[in-house]
Amino acid sequence: MYPSRFAYQRAENLTEALTVLDECKDAIKILAGGQSLIPLMKLRMVSLPRLLDVGRLQELHGICQENGLLRIRALSRHADLERFLSPPGLEMLREGARVIADPQVRNLGTLGGALAEADPAGDWPAVFLALDTSVVCRSVNETRRLSIGDFFLDAYTTALKPEEILTELEITLPRAQSGSAYLKFERKSGDFAIASAAVMVEVGSSQEIRRIGIGLAGVGLIPMKASKAEAVLRGQRFEPEILRQAGEALMNEIEPLADLRGSSEYKRNVAGVLFQRAFTIAWERAGRASRPEA
Ligand SMILES: Cc1cc2nc3c(=O)[nH]c(=O)nc-3n(C[C@H](O)[C@H](O)[C@H](O)COP(=O)(O)OP(=O)(O)OC[C@H]3O[C@@H](n4cnc5c(N)ncnc54)[C@H](O)[C@@H]3O)c2cc1C
Repeated sequence: MYPSRFAYQRAENLTEALTVLDECKDAIKILAGGQSLIPLMKLRMVSLPRLLDVGRLQELHGICQENGLLRIRALSRHADLERFLSPPGLEMLREGARVIADPQVRNLGTLGGALAEADPAGDWPAVFLALDTSVVCRSVNETRRLSIGDFFLDAYTTALKPEEILTELEITLPRAQSGSAYLKFERKSGDFAIASAAVMVEVGSSQEIRRIGIGLAGVGLIPMKASKAEAVLRGQRFEPEILRQAGEALMNEIEPLADLRGSSEYKRNVAGVLFQRAFTIAWERAGRASRPEA
């Protein structure tokens, strides 16, 4: 189906884009990679008077490390992260990118778009919830830094204001003794997750779990941070019993919705199993990172 008629405008720089958004607010929508918005418009599930194409804004491209932060600008493509040589502890950035859709979508879809879309089964929200991530939102008058936990408000709903652009993500670089892993279970390759689990773990000097982050997708109306399971693990030495208890806490704190991808109970179990497997891989990677080179 063709989308209904709309006006198209392309911004040449960030100042121009922010000014247009400020003038038009709800009457205009940002177009980044178009991999969520265009299909919705073609299905006529979304109908918009005007699109603002931000695809050429150089200010929103690039990935860099500075002052202990990894900065990922909003127009970074999924494929950019697939090729990215992650620092220790951020292995799951590549793992997240690799399981999104197919090469076409990965070459066009952007991280900013994926987070602004806030699909509860999307891969990036789970990955960034497991990390110490701030979302930078800019408008003409203000720059806001939101913790990723405060960014997702409801299904497909974020804290972004109509006049704002998500410009970049700031991720605290994990310390050396860190590892992470992202595991997704899907009906077929490239599909959205039945459930997925992202785990980042940092090992302390006494071999305790110094820092832990767990992000989940497909387990409720919004992408979720498994805070109760994190609390079970934090400060503990890793033992199978502790991991089992954390898995139980995680399964109790989620409320998956039954849909075509499975019943609530099925998804709960899948999430519990994926979490335990992802934790084990992340822990193993953290241990390897802390051992001196042979
Ligand atoms: C066939 C198919 C399979 C897919 N499979 C998966 C999958 O397995 N896992 C997964 O996670 N995703 C999947 N996706 C979604 C894909 O990741 C999209 O690329 C992504 O969700 C949206 O990114 P985009 O750049 O294309 O955004 P767009 O479609 O351009 O925009 C999406 C929304 O975000 C807003 N927006 C975009 N950029 C910004 C910004 N910088 N600031 C503020 N608002 C902004 C837009 O206004 C719009 O509301 C799939 C998509 C398709 C078509």
